[in-house]
Amino acid sequence: MPNSWQTYDLVIIGASFSGLTCARAAALRGLSVFVIEAKDDPGARIHTTGILVKEAAEELDVPADLTRAIHGVRLYAPNLKSVDLFSPGYYFLTTKTSNLMRWLADEARRAGAEIRCGIKFTGATHVGETIKIAQTKISCRYLVGADGAKSTVADCFGLGKNSRFLVGIEAEYTKLDGFDDRFLHCFLDSKIAPGYISWAAASPDAIQIGLATKSSHKPDLNRFRQHTKGLFAYDESAIVEKRSGVIPCGGIVRPYAAKNVLLIGDAAGLVSPLSAGGIRLAFRFGKKAGQAIADHLTRFGPPPETVLEKQLPGFAKKQTLRNLLDLAPPNFLYNSLLTTPLMRKFARHVYFHKRLTKDINLEEFTAQLPTGAK
Ligand SMILES: Cc1cc2nc3c(=O)[nH]c(=O)nc-3n(C[C@H](O)[C@H](O)[C@H](O)COP(=O)(O)OP(=O)(O)OC[C@H]3O[C@@H](n4cnc5c(N)ncnc54)[C@H](O)[C@@H]3O)c2cc1C
Repeated sequence: MPNSWQTYDLVIIGASFSGLTCARAAALRGLSVFVIEAKDDPGARIHTTGILVKEAAEELDVPADLTRAIHGVRLYAPNLKSVDLFSPGYYFLTTKTSNLMRWLADEARRAGAEIRCGIKFTGATHVGETIKIAQTKISCRYLVGADGAKSTVADCFGLGKNSRFLVGIEAEYTKLDGFDDRFLHCFLDSKIAPGYISWAAASPDAIQIGLATKSSHKPDLNRFRQHTKGLFAYDESAIVEKRSGVIPCGGIVRPYAAKNVLLIGDAAGLVSPLSAGGIRLAFRFGKKAGQAIADHLTRFGPPPETVLEKQLPGFAKKQTLRNLLDLAPPNFLYNSLLTTPLMRKFARHVYFHKRLTKDINLEEFTAQLPTGAK
């Protein structure tokens, strides 16, 4: 830390998906940017599965060697009967998430941002036209809270806070015999994962097994492993990492901005209440926030929140479906509905969003894949 006060145009709290994307965009537009991260390394202690939906990969091009494309979803009922879902042209990218985070940090640095790790933000105060960051000699013209679901920046400036969460837990295996890595495996079971699903997915270098539940329930990975031990040959010695975290699912917090302060990413509640995916919105609104702040500070642009407000997603339908999921539909309903055309259509809509194309089966889908992707 410098001895005398150092003033930046923009200070960002949190070096993860939203903070680093924001830092890069603002630095590219010429702002002096300082990112404060509590962990010793942005790639350390990752708390996410890190799957990018296709739309996230369209927001930001990431290096191919950090990702693995998965084209199909195998959706299981509680009785483990399954349906295979495809949408030609659609894919998910699993990631080497720690390395992806380090790459995002490198990109932000390359654009000119400074990133300081190992500093925990505890508070800040407005002093005239600047904001002074507590316990540092850093001040800024604008402050962004990209500090996750339980934001200290939101606390500090009396902004809205997430109050509704899912709780996620995951283990990463080096190998899992019997695993069909062409699919994102998703399991419906209101006893094991009330309010959400369990999942298994092959990343470029591991296999991730996890589940999330509504926050009134404690996620139990062992119970899920017991349930699926006939499908996957679990070998506990092959576990390389375990992680857990909370996922906001109550929609956008209000207010998410104060004078020269803005929340983005999970801190702002920018997570789909239904899919619980937040990386796409972290990329999208991280970048837009960086651009809008730069335009505001240097090009007479309007306050960033007025720019973002017009573009924020409307979560009304997803919130209704979230409320239904939280009721944890009985397992017999999932068992009897899963293979019906209506449920299949609904599931394809949830997984493939607006890109619903003609429904096809595994053989038809495999025939369409380029060699090497089969
Ligand atoms: C188990 C689990 C699985 C998930 N899987 C997916 C998925 O596959 N796909 C998807 O799209 N979304 C997924 N999500 C959601 C996704 O991870 C988040 O939406 C995303 O990480 C939000 O990014 P962010 O940058 O806003 O915040 P975060 O990734 O939460 O990062 C916040 C950063 O701020 C730092 N920080 C916090 N407090 C302070 C402080 N006081 N001082 C300094 N630094 C601080 C933290 O260390 C962290 O680096 C998952 C979430 C969980 C919990």
